[in-house]
Amino acid sequence: MKSCSDIIVIGGGIIGLAIATELAPVGMTVTLIEKGVFGGEASVAAAGMLAPLKEFTKPGPLLDMGICSLDLYKNWVLELKEATGIDCQLSTAGILTVAMTDMEEEWLQERYQWQKSEGYDIRLLSGKEVQKQEPHLSKMVRQAIYSPHEADINNRLLVEALVIQAKNRHVRLFQNTAVIKLKHTGRKMTGVVTEKGELEANHVIVAAGAWTADILRQVGVNVPVYPVRGQIAAVDSNHLPLSHVVFGKNGYLVPKQDRRIIVGATEDLAGFDRSSTVYGVSKVLTGAMSIVPAISEAPFLQAWAGLRPATADGHPILGPVPNWSGLTLACGHYRNGILLAPITAKLIAEYVSSDETEHMNPFLPNRFSLVSSEEK
Ligand SMILES: Cc1cc2nc3c(=O)[nH]c(=O)nc-3n(C[C@H](O)[C@H](O)[C@H](O)COP(=O)(O)OP(=O)(O)OC[C@H]3O[C@@H](n4cnc5c(N)ncnc54)[C@H](O)[C@@H]3O)c2cc1C
Repeated sequence: MKSCSDIIVIGGGIIGLAIATELAPVGMTVTLIEKGVFGGEASVAAAGMLAPLKEFTKPGPLLDMGICSLDLYKNWVLELKEATGIDCQLSTAGILTVAMTDMEEEWLQERYQWQKSEGYDIRLLSGKEVQKQEPHLSKMVRQAIYSPHEADINNRLLVEALVIQAKNRHVRLFQNTAVIKLKHTGRKMTGVVTEKGELEANHVIVAAGAWTADILRQVGVNVPVYPVRGQIAAVDSNHLPLSHVVFGKNGYLVPKQDRRIIVGATEDLAGFDRSSTVYGVSKVLTGAMSIVPAISEAPFLQAWAGLRPATADGHPILGPVPNWSGLTLACGHYRNGILLAPITAKLIAEYVSSDETEHMNPFLPNRFSLVSSEEK
């Protein structure tokens, strides 16, 4: 297996795949190494919402990044469709965020006020107005924010399309190949050791999701990333036409073009265990039924779970590891890695080809002290 490329990307989730496909046309030889199957962890587990206004609770760099990434999506999936023939089923029907209690109405109003004052195109709907748009919503829904520009995508098809695009762009792809060690001379990266052999490169990008900390710990770098399990399920939408993503305090429902409705999701601290539990699945289904009661009659399809890569401050970690040469992080996208994939790929490609970090300033690793206790 011993061979050399300009760049090695560790982790074949949505972030690693997006970065590898973005870097290849810049004229670099890129190798992508995945310990399981491409996308097989958080990236296929996700619900696929592209919803920065629903997700981010205040104005700031993370919201700006999310909006920017959402703007990139239309062209990104169009390009992918042309190159791979895969339609990633981007749906642009918009998102309804609903309130069903006094407290939720207060929360919704506050959200509406700041988002409106920031100039975002959102509308506040009364219970009656929202029932008109979605007749199956619970009669308990009193108010909703309608956000017409937010979207969702079939993230499983997106992973498939990115793998084909990576092949088209001559990225060297390895699946079922775990990186067990980073190779370096002093603080300069020279490659990786995998369970199948060694690979050399001047630059290693670690996009290993919730596992990123494990990989970096061996070289004395302490990355504050940890897994947060999300349990999620799918039901058949056959008898239940739902045209928008509906998000509430008790959960969310995401209608897909393949007739599934995805309902989610828990946030559990369970280490690297990605089992679905009786409690978790029942919580998700109960939450969904409280928002759309008719879903109780829908045929149940499947439940699964994934590990979101969370960080100490809730922001992704992007860019060079301080005091190292050729070691870059692209991790910690927590609940929004599908949304943030295209912008992450652009920022990392910009950095790798020009050393420019200005646009990812708020997300740079140097905001944390990354030195592990052994090194201090
Ligand atoms: C239930 C749930 C719902 C979600 N819903 C949404 C949503 O609606 N919208 C949204 O934007 N985001 C959503 N997310 C979040 C999103 O899934 C993640 O932020 C995103 O998938 C992170 O991508 P990643 O590539 O960093 O991580 P991953 O997809 O986990 O990929 C990391 C990869 O690195 C590999 N790896 C780890 N260690 C090694 C090693 N030593 N060697 C080689 N490879 C290694 C892993 O096998 C894995 O495939 C959701 C997540 C969950 C769990």
